Amino acid sequence: MIIILKSGASDQQIDHVIRRVESMGLEAHLSRGTFRTIIGVIGDESQFQPDRFQVLPGVADVIRVLPPYKLASAEAHPQPSVVHVAGVQIGGGNLAMIAGPCAVESAERMESIAAAVRAAGANILRGGAFKPRTSPYSYQGMGEDGLKILRETGDKHGMPIVTEVMDPRRVELVERYADMIQIGARNMQNFVLLTEVGNTKKPVLLKRGMSATIVDLLMSAEYILARGNPNVVLCERGVKGFDTVTRNVFDVAAVPACKNLSHLPIIVDPSHATGRPDLIPACALAGVAAGADGVHIEVHDCPEEALSDGPQALLPEQYAEVAAQIRKMAELFGKKISNLAGSK
Ligand code: PEP
Ligand code: MN
Repeated sequence: MIIILKSGASDQQIDHVIRRVESMGLEAHLSRGTFRTIIGVIGDESQFQPDRFQVLPGVADVIRVLPPYKLASAEAHPQPSVVHVAGVQIGGGNLAMIAGPCAVESAERMESIAAAVRAAGANILRGGAFKPRTSPYSYQGMGEDGLKILRETGDKHGMPIVTEVMDPRRVELVERYADMIQIGARNMQNFVLLTEVGNTKKPVLLKRGMSATIVDLLMSAEYILARGNPNVVLCERGVKGFDTVTRNVFDVAAVPACKNLSHLPIIVDPSHATGRPDLIPACALAGVAAGADGVHIEVHDCPEEALSDGPQALLPEQYAEVAAQIRKMAELFGKKISNLAGSK
């Protein structure tokens, strides 16, 4: 941390700042220049609250040297992290292919979609049992019955399952069924929920909030890591923009940006990012080209009957086509895909 003093700061003000630094068990190094005086602060930066120095008389600015997302930062862990989801590796050169319907709707529907995405090369099955809907009158999900169906279908097809939890009181329940817990975009800054999933050891798929910055996303990951759960996978799923042609703005630059800042794997979700089946394949491939560690795509075999996100669902045959392209791209970039069908 560096504290920059105002050009007219008095000796008394400088002394006061130094005493405040030392009272926090940190070391202060004073450096007087012709025009500016600065104080270098040495010690554990996590204990240091810049705001409390910013307000002191004579202080012009306070600059952090280390990022506030200490555990999530690339410095904390120079090698990329690999997250293990019941036999599927994500990150460190391993690509995840997550697919399934937006919501679990029935055992029959889940079975037909799972069989199709498995055959197409998906290695993790998704499906929401608790759905975050803008309207309280929209389909809210099957709850525990949906979790059971997802679990049974995943087991039948040899696929780990990922599903969303929205309520901290339901973490224990979802944890019992799921191999990976999803925190949806709308809950990215639900700090109570982040703390609860941080108390588990389950891999967490943390989706970027629709109005969250990249640093906000990393700070949310930090909440989970700080509780002792190192298994966090980030997800770029688009942010709000002014355009109405796409559902969100797919921020492909967030992928290499997160990779530069953090060791955590990051996947892309072109389904929610674009909201349009015709744009999903191009954005999926762009994500992989940008270095994503996985692609998350919603698939439905009868979108007109889908209870949520039907308009953005790929048909199974469309998924099979993009999955084949993703595999080619993975090969090009030397990425492995674990747990492919028939590869047990
Ligand atoms: C979902 O995965 O179905 C979902 C609701 O995603 P998001 O939180 O990214 O909108
Ligand atoms: Mn959805």
